[in-house]
Formats: sequence, C-alpha cells, structure tokens
Amino acid sequence: MNNRYSIIMLQEEIKRLARLYAPEFIEVRHHLHANPELSYEEYETSKFVQQKLKQIGIPFEIKATTGVVGLIQGKNPGKKIIALRADMDALPITEENDVPYKSKKQGLMHACGHDVHTTCLLGAAKILYELKDKWEGTIKLIFQPGEEKNPGGASLMIKDGVLENPKPAAIFGLHVHPGLQIGKTSFREGKVMASADELYITVKGKGGHAASPHLCIDPILIASYLIIGLQQVVSRNNNPHNPTVLSITSFQGGNTTNVIPNEIKLKGTFRAMDEEWRYKAHALITKISADIVHGMGGEIDLVIDVGYPSVYNNEKLNALAKQKAGEYIGNDNVEETEKRMGAEDFGYYSQQIPGCFYRLGVMNIEKGITSGVHTPTFNIDENAIEIGAGMMAWLGSSIAL
Ligand SMILES: [Zn+2]
Ligand SMILES: [Zn+2]
Repeated sequence: MNNRYSIIMLQEEIKRLARLYAPEFIEVRHHLHANPELSYEEYETSKFVQQKLKQIGIPFEIKATTGVVGLIQGKNPGKKIIALRADMDALPITEENDVPYKSKKQGLMHACGHDVHTTCLLGAAKILYELKDKWEGTIKLIFQPGEEKNPGGASLMIKDGVLENPKPAAIFGLHVHPGLQIGKTSFREGKVMASADELYITVKGKGGHAASPHLCIDPILIASYLIIGLQQVVSRNNNPHNPTVLSITSFQGGNTTNVIPNEIKLKGTFRAMDEEWRYKAHALITKISADIVHGMGGEIDLVIDVGYPSVYNNEKLNALAKQKAGEYIGNDNVEETEKRMGAEDFGYYSQQIPGCFYRLGVMNIEKGITSGVHTPTFNIDENAIEIGAGMMAWLGSSIAL
C-alpha cells in the first residue's frame, strides 16, 4: 500500500469505528455527566477512566492523584509521540436540564463539557487501539484533574512528569464550543486564550465616626482612588494592540451610614496574552497600588495569585491540524476560533511543547441547544461526540510532524 492510500484507508476506518461506537460513547458521557466531581476530587471519574482503559487493553499510570496517563503504541512507536489531553472536573452549579442523565449530585454539574472531553478521549483511545497496526508512532492519553481551579491540574501533571518518558512532540486538546454549530470545529494560530491572575487587596485605614472624617483615614475613599488608579495599568502602560483586562470585581467593607470602617477588601482579575507584559504588569499593579494607598495615609496588603499562562497555539502544528480537520469533516466546516480572554490550563502544556487547542461545535439551534458553558442549562448536541472522538483519533494518528 502506498502512503497516500493507507492514510485514506485510515481515515475511513476511523470514521467507521467512530460511527459504530458512537452509541457506546454517548452512554459513557451519560455516566460521566450524571456523576460529576469537583476539581481535584475526581476519584470515581478517575477509576472509571482506568476501568475503561483496562477493558480496551491500554496500559496506564496515575499522576497528580486522580490523573490518568495511557500509552498506545502504533507501528514504529518511536517515530513520533503525540499527546491527546482531556480534563475531567465539574463545577459547583446545580443542573437545570431535564434529561435522563441529569447530574445525580445536588449542586454539582458538568457545565463546562469536561464529561464530553473525557468521553471523546476515551473514544479516540478505543479507536486508536483497535487500529494500532495502521498508524505510526505513540499516543499519550492525558486525562487530567482540576482544570477549573488554581493551580490547574495541568501544572500538577507536568510536575508529576507527564511531559517526559516519553516526551510528546506535540499536544492536542479540544473544548466544546456552544457558540459553534454541530458538525464544525474551529482553530486559531498563536495566542488564543489569556493568562488569568487573581488580585486580593486589603486597604487599611483608620475607622471612626463618620461625622469626624478628619480623625480617620478613610479606606473607602482610598480604595475608590485605587480602583480608578489601577485602570492606568492597561490604558496608559499597555500597548493598545496587546489584549489585556484588569477588572476589580469585588469591593467589600463597611456596613452602616455613620461609621468609617477600618479596612476594605478588593478582589479582581488580571488577564493578558503576553507572558513578558504579564509580569511587568504585576509589578506596575503592586507599585501603583502602594503609591496611591500610602499617598493617602493608608496601608496595603496586596496578593497576586498567579494562575494559568496564556494558551499559545503553535503556528505549524495548528496549520497541520486545521488541514487534517478539513480532510476529516470538510474545509467548509473548519472555522477560525475567536480570541478570548478566558483562561485554560492547557496553557501550561502549550508553553512547554507545541500545542494546539481547538474547538468542537456542539450548538444546535433547532434542538434549542444554545446555553453557554458554566450555566445551569448547558448541554450539547451529542452527535458531536462521534466527530470529537473520531477527529481526535485522526489528528493523533495522521499528523506528520
Ligand atoms: Zn470551564
Ligand atoms: Zn472547560
């Protein structure tokens, strides 16, 4: 068989198996959806994934307590090593969907589609294992915990050596996209998602009777100036072409009309797409805050909780993947992902090895499936699972680096 012929055959085989096993994959998704677990508590989910890999015959290791890493060797296993990643955690949201597979756990829900990601990767694993004499290289399956919560399961998996022994040459991750029609996927090269750091600020003044402000140091007034002052980090220091967000999202303190409180607590988020600027901005936030607060006679306690780095899609890998996706579902169904200031801990992988984070369309307007992720009515058109699992198998096995 020549190479071109065998690659066409491979695609046909993947599509055939994805279609054949789609009902089984949907059952897997129903099980995961009905049994959500919070970040870093994915014990049952992890066991379920392990059980499925065992059934298929794929060896695996445990990393970062609940993470599972499987290896599938194709022909010539040393030729290329590709990692495929899924996240497994759910959110503290009460599900409002009236479906037979509704969350069995009050207050917990797979509202970000990580049940779908885990299902697609398990599906891809089954297909790739069955066809392992028809593709070259090794596939590393990464099922990770804690995408939704700092420090990010990806960072723990990396600390636990997931990118070594063997070291993948590239990594793919997918995310369901409720704004993208079923049947479509989307890609984008370069910076696609932002870093996200949390700000915790305490402004300390001197409380007292509101009728005697001259005897107090008013932290409410200081914090108000501080919020305005912080806006200059983005508006006056950042290059306008460089996407950045600084939002103060919580202002807490004081509880009556005639008392000036001792202190105010602020919270906020800082998001950027350039790692160098990100840390420069942290220094600016610290300096501007201290200058304003000290200048008005107060004291400040400022903590920047450093979160996920930005997600960077390697240009070459993204171009190859986009082309492969086009071969699989037709070029008309491959769109350009919009840039967004949301964060994803896939950023940790993409800062270390060539990565490609792409979107899977799950919206279906006719079926009324349009709710956004992180909402109590989020759901997907489950026909997306056949595409998601099949295309992940296709990308992992057919990409020539
Ligand atoms: Zn999420
Ligand atoms: Zn997510």
